[in-house]
Amino acid sequence: MTPPGVTAGGHESPPPGVGAGGRPYDEDRLLDVVHRQFERAAAYLQIDAGLRELMKAGQREFVVHFPVRMDDDSVRVFEGFRVQHSISRGPAKGGVRFHPEVEIEGMRALAALMTWKCALMNLPFGGAKGGVRCDPTTLSPGELERITRRFTWEVAPLIGPEQDILAPDVNTDEHTMAWIMDTYSILKGYTVPGVVTGKPLEIGGSLGRTAATAQGCVFAIREAAIHLGLDLEGATVAVQGFGKVGARAARLMSELGARVIAVSDSRGGVMHEAGLDVEAIQAHKAERGSVTGAPGTEAVTNTTVLELPVDILIPAAVERQLTSANAAAVRARIVAEAANAPTTPEADDILGSNGVFLVPDILANGGGVTVSYFEWVQNTQKLFWNEEDINNKLDSVITKAFHEVLSIARATGVQMRTAAYMLALERVATAKQVRGVFP
Ligand code: NAD
Repeated sequence: MTPPGVTAGGHESPPPGVGAGGRPYDEDRLLDVVHRQFERAAAYLQIDAGLRELMKAGQREFVVHFPVRMDDDSVRVFEGFRVQHSISRGPAKGGVRFHPEVEIEGMRALAALMTWKCALMNLPFGGAKGGVRCDPTTLSPGELERITRRFTWEVAPLIGPEQDILAPDVNTDEHTMAWIMDTYSILKGYTVPGVVTGKPLEIGGSLGRTAATAQGCVFAIREAAIHLGLDLEGATVAVQGFGKVGARAARLMSELGARVIAVSDSRGGVMHEAGLDVEAIQAHKAERGSVTGAPGTEAVTNTTVLELPVDILIPAAVERQLTSANAAAVRARIVAEAANAPTTPEADDILGSNGVFLVPDILANGGGVTVSYFEWVQNTQKLFWNEEDINNKLDSVITKAFHEVLSIARATGVQMRTAAYMLALERVATAKQVRGVFP
């Protein structure tokens, strides 16, 4: 097997137009997007064809069907998933999502992204993702708890602090993690905090975890700004998605002296050229459920928020927001992907040729899983770090990763996303190669 390594003279042209499972490539399918990002980076690396196929395919997939007694005493059957994309560098790690659109292909894509993200941050984890197809807006807290506990019971043979560590994702939070930890611990007969991260502080959660993804993103933006000679004091910012990550990122950017001029959520956006009062918008959203209609702001559409002439655009909502259809309209200097996979490869090309500096998701939002790793370390070693320690350690992980990626981008002339993937892929390929093929 040829050892992996960065080769000179690679090219960033897309592979033949084949998508996942041999279908024609489709920019609207997340798995195709993630595979294409993989292929672009792999084209620069000397990775044996078989190993490359294995790295793309992922290792294990678990599909479960389970009954839950509803509040009206009826029994409903739910479908749940856990995909472990890789366990080559350590236990699988990834979130659990409750959403009506949860399906296996999306889980495969998001699990792969977790593998590349953990490798890029150089954490001793592989990647996973899971979820239950359900609509939490129609479920009572009791129903949600029973779904969570039964799902945990079904996937229990696969999970654990040394096997697969779960975390919050869309529509799951620290309470969900507490139920998972409690159910798993009952099954084992003793308390196992390390089976989940993002749990409440009282049962072994980590200080700094709530802010970690946004904080990591802001550390990466700081490094990008230094690289580009952009002063963050007075720099203008737009944030798409004013949720857990976006709202915190907006707040941290304004604390650094930047001017957050627009934010949006699924219902629409608000803008104020002189700078929004981020705290007031947060309070408005907490009360009304949306940023729309916040006093002292003008309404803008979700489309406009992405196209404003700002220094920094932070997509912090959902996948595939910047595509071949709208990327040419982006006027930001820096796009920092707090969200997972907000930009398609076609949009990457357009942004790149327009001189936009993109900080890719696996770098920009790697702060979340990094502090999850800190939580797991504290759990397994039975110790606690203070918030300052956590933030300093997070800063050094993100800053190091940023400069490693930047060096590859400069040395090979590729964009930051391809450079980030190159480093991640090389680490995973090396781990697999060193371990060898069984039997
Ligand atoms: P969240 O549900 O708290 O927030 C998402 C926000 O996006 C909500 O305000 C929602 O209204 C808004 N939104 C949805 N569709 C939109 C649209 N089309 N236009 C504008 N706004 C829209 O979720 P979150 O935890 O903040 O996650 C946001 C993104 O960050 C996701 O892509 C997630 O995978 C990624 N991420 C989160 C973490 C984490 O620690 N929470 C870690 C890594 C990556």
